[in-house]
Amino acid sequence: MTPPFKKLLIANRGEIAVRIIRTARELGIKTVAVYSKADEEALHVKLADESVCIGPAFPKDSYLNAMAIMSAATLTGCDALHPGYGFLSEKTILPELCEKLGITFIGPNANVIKSLGDKDEAKLIAKKAKIPVVPGSEKAVESYQEGLEIANYIGFPVLIKACAGGGGRGMRVVYDKGGFKEEFFNAQQEALSSFGDGSLLVEKYIPNAKHIEVQILGAADGSCIHFALRECSVQRRFQKLIEEALPYTLSKTLIDRISSDAVKLAKKIGYDSLGTVEFLYDCDTEKHYFLEVNTRIQVEHPVTEEICRLDLVKIQILTAAEKTLPLKQNDIKFRGHAIEARVTAEDPINHLPQSGRVQFYHQPSGFGVRVDSFLYSGCSVPPYYDSMIAKIICWAESRHDCIQKLLSSLSELVVVGIVTNQEFLKSIILSSEFQSGNYTTKLIESMTHQ
Ligand code: ADP
Ligand code: ADP
Ligand code: MG
Repeated sequence: MTPPFKKLLIANRGEIAVRIIRTARELGIKTVAVYSKADEEALHVKLADESVCIGPAFPKDSYLNAMAIMSAATLTGCDALHPGYGFLSEKTILPELCEKLGITFIGPNANVIKSLGDKDEAKLIAKKAKIPVVPGSEKAVESYQEGLEIANYIGFPVLIKACAGGGGRGMRVVYDKGGFKEEFFNAQQEALSSFGDGSLLVEKYIPNAKHIEVQILGAADGSCIHFALRECSVQRRFQKLIEEALPYTLSKTLIDRISSDAVKLAKKIGYDSLGTVEFLYDCDTEKHYFLEVNTRIQVEHPVTEEICRLDLVKIQILTAAEKTLPLKQNDIKFRGHAIEARVTAEDPINHLPQSGRVQFYHQPSGFGVRVDSFLYSGCSVPPYYDSMIAKIICWAESRHDCIQKLLSSLSELVVVGIVTNQEFLKSIILSSEFQSGNYTTKLIESMTHQ
């Protein structure tokens, strides 16, 4: 097969850069890594065919510097660019510059990213497509008084949410009128400092909910398919920690209904790459609500890969090259159960990020065990980036066997020199709620209060 591209620049670091490089290599595409001064010895730099230093350690000086990234792509003669997740992946700057320079951006077009970038606009689009959205403000609220009026109207508890939000930041639950003003300004401040945009939404807080999401793939010719659902309800401070596919307690009918809503939305906006439509499922009313669309590859994509036996990054690259889908809905079949646990470098009590040198690293392996990581014995974990250092993904025919495999793998993992959340992950998996599958986004909170 002729490689779909000659040379791919990966505008990212860590495990996702490593994961993309591996697939590109299998496809016969040359790879270019970019790195900051703090990542000179990083695994993604070692694995790529070429590498370019794009600046100092802080993200704003390197991985968020679009000009430096595009210069690297041009100088090395790349014809494609993959943004990974985080950093600039959901901004329009890279696809815009790629278009000017004749480089293929492996992601949706800039208009799609723009229209889905803010949660308020995305909610409006979903509403127009007749997909249920969480009751609340239709657009960014102008003032805290307006926010309070909406909160009184929909009733407490409410969730204040940054329109530009991501990674759970700029989000506050408010249980009564008294606490509203303070939390509104706190959320505004956090949104401003994290995203440079203080716009906020106020919506009904759904206390007993599951985070359910649909992996979709669209192409420039208007076609779109889905790879069914993932459940990501195990969250700490609105950030996912453990994900599984398929969701264990959802009926086939519900899975089909949510999947088709996601495809309907994607088609409505001409979604032309890999993406994820996120929903909240209210366990009390059994209704599902649209949350947002992540216009990029997601951290938890491997659980879908494991149950479908498909390489989603390969499919994403082929779709970008051919402008049409490389497979049909009927080609997608599911088998068994997959669970992913995100291993982070953090202390177990306060969950504060840790950094330093990994003196020794041993990763679990065996049938149905996959580890996506950038660690090796002697590598360093810089303090400037996300604390996730490895993902352990297990697959087995049954959920029960998958859980056993994941527990065993987490026990086998050895990271000397840096404290990780391994034991914390095990305690979550051992909880009766997780074991039963009947857990909600409150699982971790309820464990720490026991
Ligand atoms: P995902 O499922 O990919 O994690 P989310 O919608 O939860 O999707 O968004 C998380 C995004 O925020 C990811 O792109 C990730 O890189 C980034 N992220 C996650 N955790 C953190 C963090 N602690 N600090 C900064 N960014 C983070
Ligand atoms: P982010 O961009 O930070 O990923 P999301 O809108 O996807 O923001 O929400 C992240 C998480 O916050 C969800 O997975 C869910 O746990 C929680 N959440 C979001 N909206 C609501 C809501 N209306 N009620 C209850 N929980 C919510
Ligand atoms: Mg989200």
